[in-house]
Amino acid sequence: MSAAAIADSPLAAARRLVVKIGSSLLVDEASGQLRRSWLDAVGDDVARCAARGQEVIIVSSGAIALGRRQLRLPDGPLRLEESQAAAATGQIRLAHAWQETLARHGITVAQVLVTLGDTEQRRRYLNARNTLNALVRLHAVPVINENDTVATEEIRFGDNDRLAARVAAMVSAEALVLLSDIDGLYTADPRHDPQARFLPEIHALTPEIEAMAGAPGSGFGSGGMVTKLAAARISMGAGCRMVIANGRREAPLAAIESGERCTWFLPSATPRTARKEWIAGSLRTRGVVTIDEGAARALRDGRSLLPAGVVTVDGVFQRGDAVLVKDAAGRELARGLCAYSSDDARLIAGHKSHEIADRLGYRGRDEMIHRDDLVLS
Ligand code: GLU
Repeated sequence: MSAAAIADSPLAAARRLVVKIGSSLLVDEASGQLRRSWLDAVGDDVARCAARGQEVIIVSSGAIALGRRQLRLPDGPLRLEESQAAAATGQIRLAHAWQETLARHGITVAQVLVTLGDTEQRRRYLNARNTLNALVRLHAVPVINENDTVATEEIRFGDNDRLAARVAAMVSAEALVLLSDIDGLYTADPRHDPQARFLPEIHALTPEIEAMAGAPGSGFGSGGMVTKLAAARISMGAGCRMVIANGRREAPLAAIESGERCTWFLPSATPRTARKEWIAGSLRTRGVVTIDEGAARALRDGRSLLPAGVVTVDGVFQRGDAVLVKDAAGRELARGLCAYSSDDARLIAGHKSHEIADRLGYRGRDEMIHRDDLVLS
């Protein structure tokens, strides 16, 4: 494939990308050992993306598969507390393996363990999102897994496909790669049905597509096509492109770029438009921020709302809640997610951003509503 075609690949075009790696790729099923040379080849692949300026976030499974061996747990299904014990042991080795492989390229790894609640509850979501944003800005590669040791049955993802999609949505990634032991989506299970047709591109998740998922797959990853399509739904809803690709080869990211067989799920929205639609449409506003003429001009020019331009703050809201932005005459100008609670917003209203730390006792964001979190009415 030509260089131009590679540059056109949704993978190469993504500024920020999430790569999910399943247990069955990382850990040898028979021996329970880490597949070191495969990991190193993926590490090279990730380093190549980072070197051309892409921000990469890894979601890696394998803690339970590695730990169960270490603890000499029997083959077959584990009880919940046994999986959690295995995860506690295996996660150390997993994180260490990622650290070692990326250190060969001078890349710093950050371990991030999340639970379902961290991606669902507003305050924890914002916290996780800010931390991940800070890490990638500092050129570290976050390696994420579910916090298996503390998550109980009801509050677990249980599979990293959906976890990876939530992470991709949370950080507004442009692409999500699910590396798997299958090369994409088929009309039926290709292992059993010779008529199964391969589907290279999906633009909408119709009931027919959902029906193609069939039963969860083999191997000791907890995924299968069902969780991959659930991930596709989350990802597409966030305007993030998703690809299911075969990880059973070296340098799988390079292979996707050069057009090797894989299934792309291509939403019509972008992460930016999907997020703006979400802010404009589906959030209940909890307060009103009234701003002066200078700030109103700044908003119309596409800039953020700074505390200095805020005249009054009405209502009771938490950090991250949606608020209305109005002018002095009471006209609605915009909607946005406020970076401060109503109490703190009142304390800094009318003040310069460099005064925030003195007024609140902590150093928050310079903007009261960042332009990425703001939609003009
Ligand atoms: N969090 C689990 C682990 O690291 C894996 C979940 C999955 O494979 O989807 O072992």
